[in-house]
Amino acid sequence: MSGTYVYADNAATTRVSQRALAAAMPFFRESFGNPSSIHSRGAACASAVLKARQQVQLALGADKVGEIYFTSGGTESDNWAIRGAGEMGERSGRRHIITSAFEHHAVLNTCAYLERKGFEITYLPVGKEGLISPGQVEKALREDTCLVSIMAANNEIGTVQPIGDIGSLCRERGVLFHTDAVQAVGNMPINVEKMNIDLLSLSGHKLHAPKGVGALYCRRSIDLPSLIFGGGQERGRRAGTENVPAIAALGEAITEICEGMEEKNARVGEMRDRLMEGLLKIKGTYVNGSMEKRLPGNLNITFKGVEGESLVLTLDMKGIAASTGAACTGGSVNASHVLTAIGLDPADARSTLRISLNGENTDDDIGYMLSVIPGVIDRLRELSPLWYEDEK
Ligand code: PLP
Repeated sequence: MSGTYVYADNAATTRVSQRALAAAMPFFRESFGNPSSIHSRGAACASAVLKARQQVQLALGADKVGEIYFTSGGTESDNWAIRGAGEMGERSGRRHIITSAFEHHAVLNTCAYLERKGFEITYLPVGKEGLISPGQVEKALREDTCLVSIMAANNEIGTVQPIGDIGSLCRERGVLFHTDAVQAVGNMPINVEKMNIDLLSLSGHKLHAPKGVGALYCRRSIDLPSLIFGGGQERGRRAGTENVPAIAALGEAITEICEGMEEKNARVGEMRDRLMEGLLKIKGTYVNGSMEKRLPGNLNITFKGVEGESLVLTLDMKGIAASTGAACTGGSVNASHVLTAIGLDPADARSTLRISLNGENTDDDIGYMLSVIPGVIDRLRELSPLWYEDEK
């Protein structure tokens, strides 16, 4: 095996950037105080947290720094936004939530929890293209709708939803709008003011900050109930001593990725398209979801008759990291709910590879993948006589 290792699983997680790492380092051993302490060691940490909050505010186009709350990641932010909005709705007798069938499980399972508590949830279907239209949301809105939660970009197929239009619609109708922007931030322009977003979830480890840190944007006018009770951190809304190194890294990473986004996206999009063209030459292969409305780094591709898990493990042995289904669902062999939601049959859904590129990938990575993947597909298909039977 050569020493080449291509990491093409950036939708699962990203490498911490040098800048983010440098921002975190002082807060492990030098300035290790508690941000709530009034001595200088504490104050240094409190300023680092404030700086990071301003960096996130700027990246999201938020009006006020106090609209940014640090959390432990995307899952917590999604739980907080949806459970909080549900509790607010309940107070005014509104117990209906609109979401989509292909959200991340952090959203779907929180909605399922509220459903067990007596809420009604509308799961909007997503067509073959993997897109939700504002018209679908409009039709589903009811007098008792308290929240619309639609992801900005899908984690498996990378399709980008018209969140600005959905935001305007919700604003007109006086309904809260939450978006899970975990895959979107740093990979497409986001502006919570212009897009009329009320609540937005993001996660550090998808944008070159460490795992276990994230943020929730919550519009100032919303009195969102707490999810975690304790001390007065995060203005008393999200208790617990702040993860200062990770928060400092998140602030730096979000600044860095947003600064270079346009140039990075153009380069990443070109690499993705070259890879796609090469892989589509393989027989019995198709790409899932809209290519026009899609994150530049995402390629979700079905190789008929190839078992996805075997493909990922074989590619790993050859020095390529990619994934089948969503890595976040933790080793599950069930067909991906995203792929079945866009109409794939379970067999094809299990024969699907997600390649997710980002700014760290190079043209050589694409060349290497194109030199390895076709041979691996051929070999695995030889072991899958069923597919050959169908092709005869
Ligand atoms: N939402 C989306 C769209 C995701 O892709 C992920 C993780 O893959 C999450 C939420 C969960 O984020 P975290 O891993 O920070 O909890």
